[in-house]
Amino acid sequence: MQSFAYQPLPMRVRFEFGALARIGDELQALGLQRAIVLCTPDQSALADRVMTLLGPRAAGIYDQAQQHVPIETARQAQALARSLGADCAVAVGGGSTIGLGKAIALDAGLPVVAIPTTYAGSEMTSIYGITESGLKKTGRDARVLPRSVLYDPELTLSLPVELSVTSGLNAIAHAAEGLYASDGSPIVSLMAQEGIAALGRALPHIHRDPQDRQARYDALYGAWLCGAVLGNVSMALHHKLCHTLGGSFNLPHAQTHTVVLPHALAYNEAAAPEAMRSIASALNAPRAPAAVFDLAHDHGAPVSLQSLGLREQDLDRACDLALSNQYPNPRSLEREGIRALLQNAFEGRRPG
Ligand code: NAD
Repeated sequence: MQSFAYQPLPMRVRFEFGALARIGDELQALGLQRAIVLCTPDQSALADRVMTLLGPRAAGIYDQAQQHVPIETARQAQALARSLGADCAVAVGGGSTIGLGKAIALDAGLPVVAIPTTYAGSEMTSIYGITESGLKKTGRDARVLPRSVLYDPELTLSLPVELSVTSGLNAIAHAAEGLYASDGSPIVSLMAQEGIAALGRALPHIHRDPQDRQARYDALYGAWLCGAVLGNVSMALHHKLCHTLGGSFNLPHAQTHTVVLPHALAYNEAAAPEAMRSIASALNAPRAPAAVFDLAHDHGAPVSLQSLGLREQDLDRACDLALSNQYPNPRSLEREGIRALLQNAFEGRRPG
């Protein structure tokens, strides 16, 4: 019998093929008049479409969003928002763009409407991250939670296959850690299992045919649920390791999650048997760690830290950093075990 607390987050979600076309109505429903549209340089054509759809509610575009939200980009975007007289930010893109929207919300108080185009899940959380002088500061703040999220699977048809698979595994990682979170609850576990199952079903189809609309729908649906898990509970060893590897060794976000997840699950396997059963059952496989490894390996995603550019001599420092403060995890944090986990992830060994 699980004791639990659960606090739903105050936001609207709209999910459908073609949801993008509703952006004007969404702003109107929220009483917002002038939007600054945020995107990465790669997605400026999509931001132009958003501007057209917004009509008189379009104030201007900032198209320099970057991974990990460098403070300089946040300052530039805030200054532009002020000069345009914007009363909200529309972030169209992946976690990097939505992260920039959150930085504006934190500093200038502008509400964010998010239109996610990857499976990272940032749109469902009040977690923000800003990088200054090479150090990424993260925190939770209710002001950065998007007021409204438009999920449009159409916008994910262009997501390259490898990024689709790694971003999908990034989402699965949120749900997997949600299943053994110290502050979990039955509703979070339901969302987590359903989210993992939807992504586990979708990714092989996307790998075969990136234009498979049903698979794109299922993957984004899974990403929504996994993002909601991330927004509701605290993460553990896996996320701490990925944060360390991404922040201190500049490894790419989704790929790092993909490589580390099987090994973090193997580390926690004996200490969280119920969560492992849920993950394995959602992926129709006997064991959770090998199931997520196979999902990556069989669909062209990287499986070793070495292939992401980490050097073997960095593993000791990564281990020290991961142990530098304590946080809840099903299995206590033991140096020898975590060093072995990192070695296995470095070499890309399939968990036995
Ligand atoms: P991303 O936003 O950096 O996008 C990766 C690349 O893919 C970019 O070049 C982008 O332009 C491109 N792209 C995105 N969607 C596309 C599409 N549909 N078609 C074609 N190209 C597309 O990657 P990400 O993995 O979504 O986000 C990573 C960042 O998000 C990291 O900084 C991470 O820390 C953050 N994040 C934050 C949270 C949170 O809750 N705060 C959660 C997850 C991730």
